[in-house]
Parts: sequence; structure tokens; C-alpha cells
Amino acid sequence: MAEKSKINQLLAQFGYDKTRLMDILLSINEMQGFVGQEDMQNISDSLGISMAQVQETLSFYHFLSQKPRGKYNIYLDSSIIAFMNGREAVKEAFEKYCGISFGEVSDDGLFGLFNTSCIGMNDQEPAAIINDKVFTNLTPYRVMNLVEGMRAGKHIDDLVYEDYGNGNNSDPDVRAMVNNHIRKKSIILKNDYEPYSLLKSKLKDYSPEEVISEIEASNLRGRGGAGFPTGLKWRFGRRTEGKHRVIICNADEGEPGTFKDRVMLTEYQELVFEGMVVAAYATGADIGLLYLRYEYKYLLRFLNRKLAKMREDHFLGKNIAGVKDFNFDIRIQLGAGAYVCGEESALIESLEGKRGEPRDKPPFPVEKGYLGYPTIVNNVETLATAVKILHHGAEWYSNFGTKDSLGTKLLSISGDCRYPGIYEVEWGTSIREILAMSGADDVQAIQVGGPSGMLIGLKDINNLDNSELMKWYKPSGMMIAEKFFDRRLSYSDLPTGGSIIIFNNSRNLLREVVMNFMDFFIEESCGSCSTCRNMPLLMKNKLQKILDGHGIRKDIYDLLNWGKVLKASRCGLGQAAGNPILSSVFHFRHLYEQRIQSLTSFDSGFDLGKATATSSEFVNKKPAFHHF
Ligand code: SF4
Repeated sequence: MAEKSKINQLLAQFGYDKTRLMDILLSINEMQGFVGQEDMQNISDSLGISMAQVQETLSFYHFLSQKPRGKYNIYLDSSIIAFMNGREAVKEAFEKYCGISFGEVSDDGLFGLFNTSCIGMNDQEPAAIINDKVFTNLTPYRVMNLVEGMRAGKHIDDLVYEDYGNGNNSDPDVRAMVNNHIRKKSIILKNDYEPYSLLKSKLKDYSPEEVISEIEASNLRGRGGAGFPTGLKWRFGRRTEGKHRVIICNADEGEPGTFKDRVMLTEYQELVFEGMVVAAYATGADIGLLYLRYEYKYLLRFLNRKLAKMREDHFLGKNIAGVKDFNFDIRIQLGAGAYVCGEESALIESLEGKRGEPRDKPPFPVEKGYLGYPTIVNNVETLATAVKILHHGAEWYSNFGTKDSLGTKLLSISGDCRYPGIYEVEWGTSIREILAMSGADDVQAIQVGGPSGMLIGLKDINNLDNSELMKWYKPSGMMIAEKFFDRRLSYSDLPTGGSIIIFNNSRNLLREVVMNFMDFFIEESCGSCSTCRNMPLLMKNKLQKILDGHGIRKDIYDLLNWGKVLKASRCGLGQAAGNPILSSVFHFRHLYEQRIQSLTSFDSGFDLGKATATSSEFVNKKPAFHHF
């Protein structure tokens, strides 16, 4: 455990503020690799909170530990794309050269091997985080060299086996071997904008009300997936009374297959920060928080440097942009590994130093959010888009996209295609066009919107009557198109937060893909609703039964029914946790039918009479009568 004096120093650094518990735990974890019992006791005594409260937070996050881990901790991405790109061989190589299995720490305390959910590198898998540094495009040979280097005691920075990545990935404060892979630019990514132009000139010509009206006129909708109108959210935020108002930028993209925020924060962070300042101006906020997922910790120093420069240039601080009494600053809060924190109220809980468990709504964050203040939570892409809209005007923006979905959308495309990466496309782009631009052939299926979204096929391959299924399951928010090939990205047809994963015909959709997605939801449930805690595991087991050839037709209906039960969960994670199975039953029903078709007269071989013979004999015996 850390010396008491060091803990005290840390606590003082964070002002003995219990809402900074995440930072305190992260700092101790970084200092010594874990947070021990005595550390917890010290924290509890000094902050005046119970041990249980400290432990609750500590035990919730993947990257915090209560037990010593290794000198080198290796977190290997377990997303489906990693598996498709050779993860198994990489995993075996780590186990072979480190001499331990995943989930273990070596006896000499040198290595810790851990699985982790998607780390936002699906365009360069297999990838791992080792002591907060990202290593991409791993192979068994590279693993051998890495482990050799670690055994030789090299610093993690000296183990990078390729040049640093392009753009700001090679900045001295980043030094990551990550590549941006920006494949297609449109109105947001086009480098036609001098950072902070709005703050330098235009902003003071607009009243906050005019800023909100312009965003409303543009019909900008939240880009995180839910699609709530941004202008309306800002208006609600402005109207709600509070001693403070808060702008939160949600940079906790954890949906497997999504990595656009990574690229935005690496190359377009000024647009995002400027969006936060503009949102603060419009809503009257004075507190700004950017919640950065732990997996992107390698960007933290670089982003803080950019914020320091903004303060120097008077784009943060007091009387920003020459507007009297417009005071606002931004702090970056690092997450600690929990997908559910992407949900806005869970994210707020985490920002307050607690477990990232979603809150009951209402009240919504805009009424009562961070520390009870009116809080506006916007996505990275939404904030950047708002800046471009205000710069060019809502009318300009209406030239792009479709009638119900204006503008463009950033896509993270990965999987079986020649050009994985970031694409900025207009809403209304068809799946056919996406496949052509990303170089995908021989396509079997596409996962739109990550595991929470839907698995769609490219043709009407089922040739089966889905009407019976439709009584049980109707995919929400989608039109049932005859030809899925021509479906278009839009809020009325195929809405998406931006993750597109392509699978070719060599992939086993149910065994590899759907099972992987179900494991993800099982792992990431916060556990507070019984539905979400139990049903995904039950559904996975039922699917396994079908895959093992023991399924009967009723099992499919059980799956659909249970998926429906899951919709009663408190937050989007639980509500979507059945989607991998529901959408695969719907679009790939033939794969299920193939497994059960020979079993219409299923005989399990189980003989109830035989199995209960002994107990029946016992029960049927005349009870012995004892005299006392
Ligand atoms: Fe937690 Fe799942 Fe319930 Fe969401 S649905 S609150 S993740 S248990």
C-alpha cells in the first residue's frame, strides 16, 4: 500500500473532495498498481465516506484493482474484430512468453494478462494496452519481442515496434503507434476552418438565444445514437434554474467497433473544445467536463496541453471572447473502464466519484445532473458539428443529408473490408455505397451501430415467413426493406451512432459474432437490474444449446420473448443486450432453422421415470412409524 503521507498529498491535491474519488483511486492505482485495504481506509477516514463507498467505486471499474497486478499489465482487446484479425494466436503468444494464462499475474510480479472490451482500435487489431500505451497490429512475433523487452526491464515507450502513427499521434505528448485512417472527409472533417474562429470574432455578435435558435434551425440531432435535438437540449438547459450549469462532453465511446471520437480528439480536438465553449455560452454554463475513456489515456497530456493554450489565449477562463461575465473552464475527467458510463446519467455518477450506475429518469440531467446542477451532455461529434453550423449557418447545413436527417455522420468502419477507418458521409448514404467505398466484397452481414444496434443481411436470404416472428419481435425504428442492400443511414431507416462492422461469408455469424456480442453485454452489465443481470446469460446459454444441435423451435420463441423482457431494463445497455440475438433471428433466421430443423421431433434421450426412480421408490415406501 502507498505511504500514508503520499495518500495525504494526493488527497490534498484533490482538495479532500469526495467527488474526485475517481482521480484519487486512479492516481493510487497508477502509483503502485492497485489500491489496498489500508489505502481504502485512509481515503475513507480523510474524505469522511464509508469504506463501503470507497470499495463500491473501486470494484466497479476494469482498470482499477484491489490486488497487486504486474509491473507490466497487458490488456488485450477481446472485440470480435480482434478475433477476426488473429487475436487467438496473439493471446497464445502472450501466454507462452509470459508463462501465465489470461486473468493471472506472474509469480515474480512482472506480468499481468487481462482481457478487455473494445479499446477503440478496431481499424488496427489485434491491439492491447500495456501500461497505458497502445500497441496495435499485434502478431505472435511482435509479442515475442515485446515480452523480451519487458523481461529486459525496458521502459514501455521503448517497446514501440513501429514508427509513431500519423498526424498528432506522433506529437511528443502522445507518441502513440496509432493511425488515424481518415478515409473520407466532408463538411466536418474538411480542414477549412481556423480553430476558434467563432470565439475570435463571431460569438459576441450573437446572443445566447440566437445561438440556440440557429442550432434549432439546423435540426442538429445528438450524434451519440439517441438523436435528441441538440438545440432543444440547449434550450432546456438554459431555462432550468441552477447556481451553476454544466456542459459535459461525452468522450466515452465504448461501443465495440467505434473509434471516431479517438480520431476527433487526436486531430480535431480544438473543434470539440470550441463546441463546448459555444454550448456554455448558449446555455449559461460555467462548468465544463470532458469525460475521457481510460482507453484513450494516451491522449490526456496532449489534450490538457491544448486546454492550457486555450486559457492562455483567453478562450477559457473569465470574460471569454471579450464577452463580459462569460466565465467557463474545462476539466478532463478520466474514466476507469466501464462501457455503461457512456450512458449519460451513469457518466455523471462516475464524474461524481461513484459507481457508473445509470440513474432513474426523470429527472433528466438537463434538470438535475452533475452535483444536482442543470447539465447538458453532448457527444464529441455533436459539439464539433455545432461549431461548423454556427460558422456557416443553418441554411448552409440544410444542403447536406436527407429531409429527416440533415448533415453528415462520422462512421467507424471495420471488419472484412480493405480500407477500415473513419468516413464522413452524408446521411442518406446507402449500405451499398458504404461497402463500395470501404472495399468490402463477399459480404454476408453488417453490424450497424455496434452490438447494441442490428445485424443486417444484404439480401432477403431467409425466404421464410417472418410474420409469426413479427408478433414477438419488431425491430424498433427500422423499415423492413425487401432489399437490405439499399437501406440508407438515416434516423428513419438505419440510425447509427457510427459503428459499422462488416462480415464476409467466411464468418460464422452465430458462433463467432453473436456469441462475442453477448459476452460483451454480460461482462459490461452494471448488475443493478435483474433483467440485465440475468437474461443475457440465459439467452447466450440458449443460443449455445441451439448451436450444439439440441435446440427445438420453442427455443427461438423463448429467445424472442426474453429479448422482449430485457427491454424493461433501466438503461440502454440492458434494453439493447438482446439485440445481437433478436436481430440475427430476424435477419438470419435460416441459420437458426438449420440447427433445429432436424429436431422437429426432438428426443432428448431423457427418461424422467428412470431419473426419478430412486426417489420415487423412497417416497412411495410406507413411512416407518417410530414409537418414542
Ligand atoms: Fe445496469 Fe443493465 Fe440495468 Fe443498465 S440495464 S442499469 S447496465 S443492470
